[in-house]
Amino acid sequence: MNDCLFCRIVAGSIPAKLVYEDDQAVAFEDINPQAPVHVLVIPRRHIPSVAEFGSADAGLLGQLVQACVKIARNKGIAESGYRIVTNTGPQAGQSVLHVHLHVLGGRHLAWPPG
Ligand code: AMP
Ligand code: ZN
Repeated sequence: MNDCLFCRIVAGSIPAKLVYEDDQAVAFEDINPQAPVHVLVIPRRHIPSVAEFGSADAGLLGQLVQACVKIARNKGIAESGYRIVTNTGPQAGQSVLHVHLHVLGGRHLAWPPG
């Protein structure tokens, strides 16, 4: 989708600081980090949110989560701890309609979230 910001990042037409990629996923630094580590993991394919994952996408979802775990290891926060978050819909604050997993860590993360 040409009008999707994250599809453009996948295509390389908008710059991003890539930290990981594989056949189905791309990960990059969040432009407005909320923690010392804040990476977004997205599928190459345009899927608006987790609500649109189909039954055939179970493997893709697993691969995205595995990418998050690898990134946490590479960033050195596997032991201290981290959070994987995906906001879905307006009340959760989803601002980009291409599904993304936030990987947050490097500081204490309060619970419950705001
Ligand atoms: P959400 O609000 O959950 O939809 O998350 C969207 C995230 O995308 C926010 O944390 C933004 O800071 C981030 N973001 C928006 N534009 C860019 C960009 N061009 N490069 C990297 N991250 C971005
Ligand atoms: Zn997209």
